Amino acid sequence: MNSAFLRQSRFGLVAAVVLPLLAACSSDPGAGGDANGTTTAAAPAAGDEALATTTTSLDVDLDRLNVNLLSDKATLSADESLLVTVSMTNTASHRIRVLKWNTPVEGVNEPLFEVSRDGVAVDYVGRHYKRPAPRAKDYVILAPGETLTRTVDLADSYDLTTTGNYQVRFHAALPVAFAAEPQLAAELLSNDVAMLVAGRTSFLTQPKTTGEESVKAASYTGACTTSEKSALVTALSGAASYASGALTYLSGTPGSKPRYTTWFGAYTSTRWATAKTHYTKIKDALDNKAYVFDCACTDDYYAYVYPTQPYKVYLCNAFWSAPQTGTDSKAGTIVHETSHFNATASTDDHTYGQTSCKSLAKSSPTQALDNADSHEYFAENKPALN
Ligand SMILES: [Zn+2]
Repeated sequence: MNSAFLRQSRFGLVAAVVLPLLAACSSDPGAGGDANGTTTAAAPAAGDEALATTTTSLDVDLDRLNVNLLSDKATLSADESLLVTVSMTNTASHRIRVLKWNTPVEGVNEPLFEVSRDGVAVDYVGRHYKRPAPRAKDYVILAPGETLTRTVDLADSYDLTTTGNYQVRFHAALPVAFAAEPQLAAELLSNDVAMLVAGRTSFLTQPKTTGEESVKAASYTGACTTSEKSALVTALSGAASYASGALTYLSGTPGSKPRYTTWFGAYTSTRWATAKTHYTKIKDALDNKAYVFDCACTDDYYAYVYPTQPYKVYLCNAFWSAPQTGTDSKAGTIVHETSHFNATASTDDHTYGQTSCKSLAKSSPTQALDNADSHEYFAENKPALN
């Protein structure tokens, strides 16, 4: 992919497409969907590009999107998948858009479900991505009355190592920063389903073997080419200098300074200390841990990791066309991904892109300190702030 085009298209849409879910109250007949109208295609239909960039008549209308959750089994043995079926129905009289990654259209690649065992929340152990700010093709469009239905397996995304009574609900929380008005921040929430699940192990919940981590040398899986390996060595070193710069800044005099407040919001000594702890661990990882880079991913995002699998990073298409340093760069992406590991800052992805991250810092400093892209932009520090 051409780097200049990617960047232009991404930033060109940022101002118009800041809502992950919105409704356009037009009666444009070009809604996506198949013949029987029960499921929608993941890709927008022709003409939806215009809807995706519409800036008028925006209406956050989440209460008109009903989410239903179903499981056909009440008891699961240790070798059975945990299959649940999510149905999202547009009960409004106009089309509604929702970001794909707030739906199960591409599977479970974000913590889209709340899972608890005997009343205690269990960890999400699935993928965390770095994605570009939303583009037109990142939306699913539901026509009035249309239902999107997907069956997904949660066994590889949540920690099911302990036998118990599990309760599952779909819960995509849309950040305050995305909503047209702060009070419209909302969430997609389903009914609960309960099941008795026999504990099992998966590659994601098995403890990583230790003992060789003192040897710091990146290794590669997924057929990385020579030039990709070379770019990764440079990116890793760039990420280490970003982390070092961030920690140096946070080791200085704390206070309400532009660089801090732009990305992490209103200053408090506690939150400043949290940020410092995060970059201490991120820097330690980048300086001392043996990273594994996987080049097999072919989707349009930058990269992803599993938070319980440090320090393996899966690189995707947008990574290879990103600049080596600067905003949304290769080095910055490595900082973003490193922040996700439970062994470092255990961040989530509440929102993506500079514009939305700045809004998040204003509306929710706590979420900003838990947001991977905010950590990346603070580290990249471009344009430079004091
Ligand atoms: Zn991420």
